[in-house]
Amino acid sequence: MRQPLEETLLAAIRTIPDYPKPGVQFRDITTLLGNAGAFRRTVDELVHPYAGSKIDKIAGIEARGFILGGAIAHQLSSGFIPIRKKGKLPHETVRVAYSLEYGLDEMEMHRDAVSAGEKVIIVDDLIATGGTAEAAVRLLKQMGADIVAACFVIDLPDLGGRARLEALGVNVRTLIAFQEQ
Ligand code: AMP
Repeated sequence: MRQPLEETLLAAIRTIPDYPKPGVQFRDITTLLGNAGAFRRTVDELVHPYAGSKIDKIAGIEARGFILGGAIAHQLSSGFIPIRKKGKLPHETVRVAYSLEYGLDEMEMHRDAVSAGEKVIIVDDLIATGGTAEAAVRLLKQMGADIVAACFVIDLPDLGGRARLEALGVNVRTLIAFQEQ
């Protein structure tokens, strides 16, 4: 019989204590990506609710969202949009500022990456405070995209990101939650 999804994910995700700074439990998905069965299952589970629906584009958040988002785009026969830190995209962009723990940063997307009314799913590895994902939501909404969902492997519910996106009317899908940060 197949192992429950939660067991597969718990065994495949590595936790690095005090990285990148004391007090943070870093949830490292490189071990999951390196495990063929776990990687495939993760992508299958994220794709499952949308199989058979027409999703025009997957918007992946730099950098781990590119890996998962590329695989999901292939499975759903969708296009892919990179959402990047400022200064990395070569053509004309739209840009939003978002808050980090200390100060502000900016995220960008090519202005012609999405058309009004296109159905888009946002993908990243993990949602914590939701600041990064909210920036992606704002970029896509600026261009009139129809955001079908935002999908993450890992939720850190104590940090409130899911609730923050849901308050913006975004449907959030996550596969596993870690209670402690
Ligand atoms: P946030 O904007 O607070 O929701 O942070 C989400 C982004 O930061 C994602 O791109 C994650 O990859 C990364 N991130 C935040 N906290 C962690 C953590 N504890 N472990 C791994 N990645 C994290």
